[in-house]
Amino acid sequence: MLRTRFAPSPTGHLHVGNAYSALLCQQWAESHQAELLLRIEDIDFNRCRPDFAADLIEDLEWLGIRWQGDILYQSRYLETYTQALEQLRQDGLIYPCFCTRRDIQREIENAGLAPHAEDMPEVYPGTCRMFSAEQRRQRIADGSPFAWRLDVQAAMQCVGDVSWQDGEGCCHAVHPGLNDAVIGRKDIGISYHLAVVVDDAVQGITHVIRGDDLRSSTGLHRLLQALLGFLTPIYLHHALLCNEAGERLAKRNGAPSLRELRTSGASADTLRRLLLQRGNEAPAPWAGLAG
Ligand code: GLU
Repeated sequence: MLRTRFAPSPTGHLHVGNAYSALLCQQWAESHQAELLLRIEDIDFNRCRPDFAADLIEDLEWLGIRWQGDILYQSRYLETYTQALEQLRQDGLIYPCFCTRRDIQREIENAGLAPHAEDMPEVYPGTCRMFSAEQRRQRIADGSPFAWRLDVQAAMQCVGDVSWQDGEGCCHAVHPGLNDAVIGRKDIGISYHLAVVVDDAVQGITHVIRGDDLRSSTGLHRLLQALLGFLTPIYLHHALLCNEAGERLAKRNGAPSLRELRTSGASADTLRRLLLQRGNEAPAPWAGLAG
């Protein structure tokens, strides 16, 4: 059985960019006789809210998105993600990182490296990877807060060459120079990367359909799958909707939320048709819908 999922994070109301992604998931599922599952990625309790989760379900139903089975709420499975983290720890593939953002920035500047551009993933210079077991014990005993980072070099040695496949059948090798990403956050103990990989495996997802903004994380996800002994899905990354200025659509740059469109009387049928037929055209095809 082919299976995909839509996996929003309830950090606000869904906007038309999220709706576009949900519609592409549903369209793909329908044309492949596949199942579409809904997963609420709500482990970040600092930013996610249950009322946003309830609202997004209502908004998706309004839009005509239909999913199979129960909705999976990540916040109910923290134990499962913690077990995966523990497995990686026992295999010696992660290390505690005590750096603050400022420490990392300072280190990058001292090394004469360019500070990372705004939307680029943070480059970690590897400071805490060099610590001895004794230094780590000391810092932990002192009560210094820490995150867990993946030791990419050790991980790559463990799995050898790995790659992921896209919708066209092209293989993309996982880059050995990948950043030592945080997979256990200081504040919530787990990171998105670990939770998403565990859930895609547990839910038997065969195809991941998601925005291009997550393409750069796919190598890391593939690496985690290999380390944890999981099968890997095929990845289809779709173009992101942009505003008139060519910027990625987000609430902060004026993307209308489904809720706003809905309450101002827009028709879900029309929105669905516009997004699927002319999603990325300028001027924004949904602009005249409200009111
Ligand atoms: N929760 C993520 C988001 O809202 C999507 C994760 C994924 O599709 O892998 O951007």
